[in-house]
Amino acid sequence: MYKNIKPTMNVKAAVINKPQAKFDIEEIQLDQKLGPNDILVKVVATGICHTDLIMRDEFFPFPKPAVFGHEGSGIVEQVGNAVNKVKAGDHVIMAPASYGQCENCVSGHPAYCLNFMELNFGGHKHDGSCPYHNHEGKEMGSGFFGQSSFANYSLVKENNVVKVDKDVPLELLGPLGCGFQTGSGTVLKFLKARPGDSIVIVGVGAVGLSAIMAAKLAGCTTIVAADIHDNRLELAKELGATHTINSKDKKITDYVLSEIAPKGLDYGLDTTGRNNVISDAMGAVKIMGHMAIVIVAADKLELDAPVIQVGKSISFVNEGDSNPDVYIPKLIKLYKAGLFPIDKLVKYYDFEDFNKAVEDSEKGNTIKAIIKMPH
Ligand SMILES: [Zn+2]
Ligand SMILES: [Zn+2]
Repeated sequence: MYKNIKPTMNVKAAVINKPQAKFDIEEIQLDQKLGPNDILVKVVATGICHTDLIMRDEFFPFPKPAVFGHEGSGIVEQVGNAVNKVKAGDHVIMAPASYGQCENCVSGHPAYCLNFMELNFGGHKHDGSCPYHNHEGKEMGSGFFGQSSFANYSLVKENNVVKVDKDVPLELLGPLGCGFQTGSGTVLKFLKARPGDSIVIVGVGAVGLSAIMAAKLAGCTTIVAADIHDNRLELAKELGATHTINSKDKKITDYVLSEIAPKGLDYGLDTTGRNNVISDAMGAVKIMGHMAIVIVAADKLELDAPVIQVGKSISFVNEGDSNPDVYIPKLIKLYKAGLFPIDKLVKYYDFEDFNKAVEDSEKGNTIKAIIKMPH
């Protein structure tokens, strides 16, 4: 008679109850019944990404109360009976969800899964059920990027975990699943920057700085960093930028064409999503150059006439076109070799200080906030 009662466990989570509100630290319930491909992960740490915050502010609708979070790392607690990829005790990071069998997934591009929106932003598990309930028994927006890692336990699919080595600090690795793979992957995998190439990277937060490190790794000899925060530009220099520009004071196009490359640069990479900034950066890219945009914050994009020149390309890149199972282990090898020093971007916070971490991130004082989850 008890067979329909789902086993649940108490979980601590940072919850958004209302749009634009602060995160509430709550005890909620997680449906612990694992489907055949499910994995229960004890979340050790989670990064905070810009997308969590724009979704808090209803960039597009997501059921509330909601558990966001999509840069989680943790330890496998339990696996469903069809899971082969990992076992209890393995260290994993969680990457965006993908279906695994559509034509884009099968061809090695899960960031362009044809079911990406539904699987990552649908607000529920793949089967339509809801794993989290709040203390009133209300269903919560869950399965954010297939993980909702702002909770100390997360139910994910085999497809969106990547097993990682145990000799690297697990709490550091979660942002490899979004911010760090987005910046580096766009340079290395998507634009395929080569030795001697030139690039301008606009907005040097976590995504932009990982792009700078990647451009250096690729052998780019001109790496221009543009931002409005001088402290970030300093760090960009330390990580490989050859030129910096405070775009509060001057136009990127003017500076690049007059001081660096009169015909423009090979590549541009925008992390700001701002229309006027994208248009300005596009002007600094040469004819037949390629501009990659990793986020669009506006409803529409308009480019000034002079920057639209024959032969220039503009692409919208998701998650650096990363295939996490292949790409993230490589990033970890680069980190271990001292070539991808993501630890320089990170500041750790206790779970109780969640809202402080959000505030510091929004002010630009912290580049990548990582929350250590309580257990
Ligand atoms: Zn797919
Ligand atoms: Zn993200």
